[in-house]
Amino acid sequence: MLAMACFPLGVDMRLDLQLAEACPSCFTGVLPDRVMHGRVSVPHGPDALLEERLAGNPSMEAVPDTPDDAIALALAGNRRFVEGQSTVYHQDMDLLHAQTADHQHPFVAILACADSRVPVGLVLDEHIGRVFVTRIAGNTASTEVIASLEYAVAILGVKAIIVMGHTNCGAIKAAIRNDEVPGQISALFAGILPAISLAGGDDADPGEVTRQHVLNQVGVLTHASTVIDSRVKDGSLKVVPALYDVASGVVALLPERAPRAG
Ligand SMILES: [Zn+2]
Repeated sequence: MLAMACFPLGVDMRLDLQLAEACPSCFTGVLPDRVMHGRVSVPHGPDALLEERLAGNPSMEAVPDTPDDAIALALAGNRRFVEGQSTVYHQDMDLLHAQTADHQHPFVAILACADSRVPVGLVLDEHIGRVFVTRIAGNTASTEVIASLEYAVAILGVKAIIVMGHTNCGAIKAAIRNDEVPGQISALFAGILPAISLAGGDDADPGEVTRQHVLNQVGVLTHASTVIDSRVKDGSLKVVPALYDVASGVVALLPERAPRAG
């Protein structure tokens, strides 16, 4: 059935709520020209997807114009996921492969945990070539992670980096307990220690440590990388903290830490 309820939404890109109101059947609607360079980027229903494919519309090459639009687009995908309205698996995989074999156009980068319950592309309902993902247990911005994200920013031109911690993180809990662990696993703990200290030390609540750790990583990315920092300062990039709830599937932005005075 054609998604007849879809219609242009205007120019305000607080997508997560407005899109749901605009199109109750698909939660996506047709994105404003301003955002997607005049092209419909997010397919909105099986028939529309088929139409796009038959039309040869290379929708994955369309990217949002601003950091706020990129964040809103990512959260809109999470809303589709949570509502059981994911679209990406309706895509024709041969077409996706043909479009991404030698290039990519991600609009957002994610720093997430390696935890198997945090499949980033799935929970953002984004398909191949759209989300640049770095994953490491405990979602810590290690040197290699920073280098990868710099590549996403400087070479691929992502508009936003979302540092996405998650509830019930085993790496966070193990770091708090300072577990005896085999091999090199304890190397993961060092980056989490500042958050444990901020959250109250050995008795810290894992949820609070997770939140502090995500905020710390936002700070690390903007302070340890001149590439990222310069783009943040010129307004072409945002780095934002978020939490993925492994029980509900919801990705929620966290309040950002106020800059320290002086
Ligand atoms: Zn984790």
